[in-house]
Amino acid sequence: MLSLHPLPALGDNYIWMLADADAGTALVVDPGDAAPVLAALAADGLGLAAILLTHHHPDHVGGVPALVERFPAVEIWAPRDDRIPVASRRVGEGDTVVIASPSSSFEVLEVHGHTRSHVAYHGEGLLFCGDTLFSLGCGRLFEGTPAEMLASLDRLAALPGNTRVCCAHEYTLSNAAFALAVEPDNAALHARIETIRDLRARNLPSLPAVLADELATNPFLRIDAIAGERIPWPDRTQPSPRRVDRFAALRSAKDRFRA
Ligand code: ZN
Ligand code: FE
Repeated sequence: MLSLHPLPALGDNYIWMLADADAGTALVVDPGDAAPVLAALAADGLGLAAILLTHHHPDHVGGVPALVERFPAVEIWAPRDDRIPVASRRVGEGDTVVIASPSSSFEVLEVHGHTRSHVAYHGEGLLFCGDTLFSLGCGRLFEGTPAEMLASLDRLAALPGNTRVCCAHEYTLSNAAFALAVEPDNAALHARIETIRDLRARNLPSLPAVLADELATNPFLRIDAIAGERIPWPDRTQPSPRRVDRFAALRSAKDRFRA
């Protein structure tokens, strides 16, 4: 049976580990640092069979060389991007990642916006979405346009509601402040924040999130639901009918937001 473990790393990253204790194998997603992975594998007597990478940023790939050194046969799945130099399999839209052990398979979605080659992996009821979708937030637009990011988020939002969303950072509480400013009357959001505060007070991860909960509370998935006057329009006298303009305004408001 598969078990899912968020391994805290580098301050506010999570390296997601999916393990099969009976088989003695594990895979990890976005190992920005090798040390927490090696410690978790050693603690459970597991070998590392596969690494899934979502994008090239150092906090997602930095641990790969040390993991390859310790597990030379590890298979590395990565998007087509020269900035990720080491990979055994390159993946793109519509590909299926099949891993023999821990027995699992994932569909690849290209979700550009944070970077120009970012991918997400969906399978086993899980979504590994890197820095594209965060709980109560979304990634910054470093290399993509608002339209690209919105299209990526729309695709993730269309996955089954019971999907467990495995984001790569513990940003949930800081995202909550902005979400509340946008939707102060969202009862589901208030209830979620209580739960998240309680988890964080006990130093537990706020993740994985359930996609249906994100749809009810994450402003970046609620472009069509948020009351117009709550969106900080660039020009408040010019209500825009375009979703992408609403999204762009929301994203840039978040960039400027200080709780
Ligand atoms: Zn990133
Ligand atoms: Fe990151």
